[in-house]
Amino acid sequence: MLSTDILSWKQLSRRQQKPVHLILFITDHCNAKCGTCFYWQNLNQGESLKPDHIQKISEAMGELVWLDISGGEPFLRKDIDQICHRFLDHNQARFINIPTNAIQTSVIERSVNGILENKNPFRLNIAISIDGIGENHDRVRGVPGNYKKALATLEAMSAIRERDERLSLSVVTTVMRSNIDDVKQLLHLGVTDWDLDYHSLNILRGKPMDPALQSPTPEQYAEISKLQLKLCRSYFKGRWGALGGWTATMGRFFLNRYYMREVEGKPKDISCNAGDVSCVIDANGDVYFCELLKPVGNLKNYDWDFDRLWHDFEATQLRQKVQNGCHCTHECFQTKNLIFTPWRLV
Ligand code: SF4
Ligand code: SF4
Repeated sequence: MLSTDILSWKQLSRRQQKPVHLILFITDHCNAKCGTCFYWQNLNQGESLKPDHIQKISEAMGELVWLDISGGEPFLRKDIDQICHRFLDHNQARFINIPTNAIQTSVIERSVNGILENKNPFRLNIAISIDGIGENHDRVRGVPGNYKKALATLEAMSAIRERDERLSLSVVTTVMRSNIDDVKQLLHLGVTDWDLDYHSLNILRGKPMDPALQSPTPEQYAEISKLQLKLCRSYFKGRWGALGGWTATMGRFFLNRYYMREVEGKPKDISCNAGDVSCVIDANGDVYFCELLKPVGNLKNYDWDFDRLWHDFEATQLRQKVQNGCHCTHECFQTKNLIFTPWRLV
């Protein structure tokens, strides 16, 4: 995949004030009830980006390096493969990431095969959410049997990955005070049983649906962070050559150290690239710099003209504000800060 990486750097050099990282909420429909969900107040309101709106968004974007297709549960959209093809063909998207609650294995399998019918040199990552072992996971997700279904989906994705090396497979786990022992087991399973390409950890963020859930203590996070760093060496070993693997592990080290300050209640303000490199568009047309801040506007009020909204007064003011200093543990954004401006996190 080195060729893909070189192409991505070429795309970054041509960016011209347009985001190269788009998080697109294609639907607010979801079939889970996760206590950890920070988007719960927006769920199941009947909002969904229509194909002509998606087309307008795609036309307004330049070349995209990262595209996150989100929701709700994104695989509840039957046309998810067509949406991906649109951004692959029109925006030369290089990395598409789709997080999923993995409940509907056969639907996900069909859609992933449909997306991979596009023969462009892109990488597709399916990120399966698993927050606990067995019934612990089912309880967090509010769906009996979710753990078994997630394992079935993992198996189905592994089989597709055997046939198509453009597919990669990760697990995403939300780390909180009540699931530390399970997180440790999950991290090991990712390497020993599931042959994952990566295991992401998100520290509980935003205002979760279950207000009783809490972030990990500093001691808990220190333990998890140490284990994650150790396992990083196996995930990154042999990838991008010896130096690339070492650099990626060092990046993880600096990110985890930055998150630790947050967990300890001593956050470090950094100049954030959200609203410049990255952009979020919600299923109802709201545009955000990141989901943790208020929207900068709604595309419906701009006749779906993204450029006009993105350079409007309100967006310009907020951009200045986040560039002056902000902080959080939102992995999608902090990994981009690490790539573009690593010195800010050190
Ligand atoms: S976290 Fe994801 S899967 Fe869970 S309720 Fe929220 S949108 Fe649905
Ligand atoms: S630091 Fe976090 S909350 Fe602040 S703008 Fe960046 S992503 Fe958003």
